[in-house]
Amino acid sequence: MPAAGADRKLSIVSQAEPGPILAALREWLRNERRLGVPHWAVSSRSSQSSSAPSSPAPVARARARASEQPPAAGAAQVAERSSTLQAVPPTLTPVMSAAPGGLFADDPNLPPVCQQELSPAEAEAALTELDTGFVRKCTKCRLHEHRTQTVFGVGNPRPTLVFVGEGPGYEEDVQGLPFVGRAGQLLTRMIAAMTLTREQVYICNVVKCRPPENRTPLRDEMETCSPYLFRQLAILRPKVIVALGRPASQTLLATDAAISKLRGQFLDFRPPMPLAGLSGVKIMPTFHPAYLLRNPAAKGEAWADLQQVMRFLGLTRN
Ligand code: SF4
Repeated sequence: MPAAGADRKLSIVSQAEPGPILAALREWLRNERRLGVPHWAVSSRSSQSSSAPSSPAPVARARARASEQPPAAGAAQVAERSSTLQAVPPTLTPVMSAAPGGLFADDPNLPPVCQQELSPAEAEAALTELDTGFVRKCTKCRLHEHRTQTVFGVGNPRPTLVFVGEGPGYEEDVQGLPFVGRAGQLLTRMIAAMTLTREQVYICNVVKCRPPENRTPLRDEMETCSPYLFRQLAILRPKVIVALGRPASQTLLATDAAISKLRGQFLDFRPPMPLAGLSGVKIMPTFHPAYLLRNPAAKGEAWADLQQVMRFLGLTRN
């Protein structure tokens, strides 16, 4: 898929004298079409450039990664690839606070963690009970003081793929839904590029209340709220979780490593509490859509990360 406005640019340039610039532009457009790079993944800075076209470095890196992988994954290929998935590097250090019984202090007042696979209807009911019975009433951390409402999560109650961000922003706080602002619109386009819809996946955040001024949730806030997230995931039981940004990646992987070191590779889910049925879940850390809005040059790398997830799940673009 070419960049937005690319065809218009081509028609404008076509009226000029043919030459090396026109030839280079045609070659660039042919490459973009061949790779199927979606609109959202093309850096707006590079697509708005009026200089001679050249492939932006992140997209070029995405191409290189794409060319290293087979185009589609059958069941055997998925099984083979999953057996070679990388584990969390042993040098990473846990980020969660030390607590009796492990790295994490669970809340004994919450309902037990789901220990069995549920039907979609049962999962929907369990999620609703966790949301209405506990999260909406929660005042366990300071974030409850300024919220309009809690933002629990939305989507398929038994999904293959879950997206986890860090916390609600202004629009999410107003609407009570995750990822509905500008970053959410970009996430919707990213999901569509993966040949999926928001209704087919599940979307939630680590913390369920909006941090003031949209700041990053603090470590103690994420630790306090995490029992809800882990109970959600125990009900959802996805195959892959895409961790959007540093706070979500660090929470799900129990590490304090930088997102730049974590992203772009499948890592093992490291729940700090026993979660039956989630031992094989893979985490794909990638950039948060809000970061991509501020740094469009990183979209190519995010798209390469999502393409890995697509190959793992056997998804293909038309
Ligand atoms: Fe409770 Fe989580 Fe909201 Fe804090 S952020 S008040 S722990 S629901």
